[in-house]
Amino acid sequence: MGTLTARGEELLRLAHERPDLTRAEAARTLGTGTGTTADLVARLTSAHLIDERPAAPGGGRGRPTRHLVPHRAGPLVLGAVVSHEGWAVGAVALGGAPVATERGTHDGGDGTAVLRAVRAAAGRLRRRAPGRVRGLGVAVPGLVHDGHLLDAPILGWRGLDLRAALAAEGEVFLAGNDATLAAVGEARRGAATGAAVHLHLHVDAGLGGAVTTGGHPLEGAHGLAGEFGHVPFGDPAVRCPCGAHGCWGTTLDGTAFARALGEAPPGDPVSYARRALERAAAGDEDALHAARAVGTSLGRGAGGLVNALDADLVTLGGLAARLLAVVPDEVRGACEDGLMRSRRSAPPALVPAALGDDGPLTGAAELVWSQLWERL
Ligand SMILES: [Zn+2]
Repeated sequence: MGTLTARGEELLRLAHERPDLTRAEAARTLGTGTGTTADLVARLTSAHLIDERPAAPGGGRGRPTRHLVPHRAGPLVLGAVVSHEGWAVGAVALGGAPVATERGTHDGGDGTAVLRAVRAAAGRLRRRAPGRVRGLGVAVPGLVHDGHLLDAPILGWRGLDLRAALAAEGEVFLAGNDATLAAVGEARRGAATGAAVHLHLHVDAGLGGAVTTGGHPLEGAHGLAGEFGHVPFGDPAVRCPCGAHGCWGTTLDGTAFARALGEAPPGDPVSYARRALERAAAGDEDALHAARAVGTSLGRGAGGLVNALDADLVTLGGLAARLLAVVPDEVRGACEDGLMRSRRSAPPALVPAALGDDGPLTGAAELVWSQLWERL
């Protein structure tokens, strides 16, 4: 393996990035002549990496061009995600299209049992495509370092060896934080393709996120970057479960809605916030008042981070996307209000994430592909 020429690898990456690529576009982008391109395509086809199918007739003159598509016996990667209530594993072909996905639920009790279920599903997907799976990437809701889930605070899981549980002999393996991998998914396949510096913010039980540059995540020296929920954009009088005062996350989660509504801290902050946002969307004045306060905090913090990072796009996932839908003027207004004057003429777009719950799985699979090119 690892037999591709530099040009062959370039063409393969291009076919992956642009699933609707035609042979003519590939030649133009790579600057290769018709003969050289045909030769490269022939070699990638005989290596069972890509295939061709005729483009739909467009009525133009000349020979119809051909689309480069994944080979039916070509490599696959597995993207997996473990969330607070469930898990999913998808087999993803060249070009990013999922060819099969398995899903399950869990009650959060036993992390080892959940990883066993994910491993079994990955095994079934491998058996459906013998010899084709080349790697697995898994996204988990917590701090990840060197293949270990150090701490998943909401689930109470600590010190799980993800590599030992899920890696297979001879395959690429990687593990990462779900919000970080969701950001990669958005940058590669979602709402942030083409962004130079992209900030992704995801609110569920807490606030997570990541920064991507050119589709790659800023992971930090220990892989722990992106803890935006613990930046002190909040009320210094409020203590965060992390131990610090004034964390931004405490102004965005279910407890923030409860404070604004004058109610006791909810047992299940995520469904509490979801219900409050539903009531706000239906016109309930109290819930709308709370949503405006939370949306304003989200926008103000996003603006501050844009100032610091010089991001050109912000994607919002989970409850943050819901806030943007319910109180868009507060979220966008507070963001623009918080921007430095020099940025106001071209404020960054603030958009909902496009991939939803599949974002982390997509990002995990994409990072495996990135490590695979030189091994094909
Ligand atoms: Zn905190």
